[in-house]
Amino acid sequence: MTQELTIAVSKGRILKETMPLLQHAGIELIDDPKESRKLILDTNHDDVKVVVLRATDVPTFVEYGVADIGIAGKDVLMEFGGESIYEPVDLKISTCRLMTAGKPGANERKGRLKVATKFVNVAQKFFAEQGKQVEIIKLYGSMELAPIVDLADLIVDIVDTGNTLKANGLVPLDHIADISSRLIINKASMKMKHNRIQDIIEAVQAAVQ
Ligand code: AMP
Repeated sequence: MTQELTIAVSKGRILKETMPLLQHAGIELIDDPKESRKLILDTNHDDVKVVVLRATDVPTFVEYGVADIGIAGKDVLMEFGGESIYEPVDLKISTCRLMTAGKPGANERKGRLKVATKFVNVAQKFFAEQGKQVEIIKLYGSMELAPIVDLADLIVDIVDTGNTLKANGLVPLDHIADISSRLIINKASMKMKHNRIQDIIEAVQAAVQ
């Protein structure tokens, strides 16, 4: 009996960089994600589907087991939290850093700092570990604007080249974590569909190396 497999991937850059890795495991998309409006894409295997999601929804689909396998950035996984998902492979793609940033010296200011971010849980944990009292302001995008308009002293955001910060007169300050995309697996699927999933893990691992 064949077992259906669902793979959750986030739109955009991760999808583009992930498909060559899945090809090594013999999985190729039939539907073109750029052309198709379908949310469940067919592959060259009748029993393997790919669902294309917003990045922050990938761990949710995998935790609830509606997707057996997912590909998500470590930033998204850190913010999602929890111990309920296996994370067996670092895909070493979409690498960047999670940092605090602000105007030069902003992290040395005394008193209760205001921190704007979409990574609320990560920020809370980071500043608590530093023993710093902060006020977190949740934003959904354009975090770099917050220190410029004095909405916040600091932001917690993703930095790649640093060009976005520089263009807005900001500097990277504290390094929180190195980020890359990870292969994630639902714990029950890992037991129930072990051979199938283990083959995919090994093929993807070999492709990464
Ligand atoms: P940069 O100007 O190269 O430092 O890029 C910074 C902006 O690009 C950030 O605001 C992020 O939203 C986005 N970005 C860069 N790399 C990544 C990545 N690997 N994953 C998600 N977003 C990224």
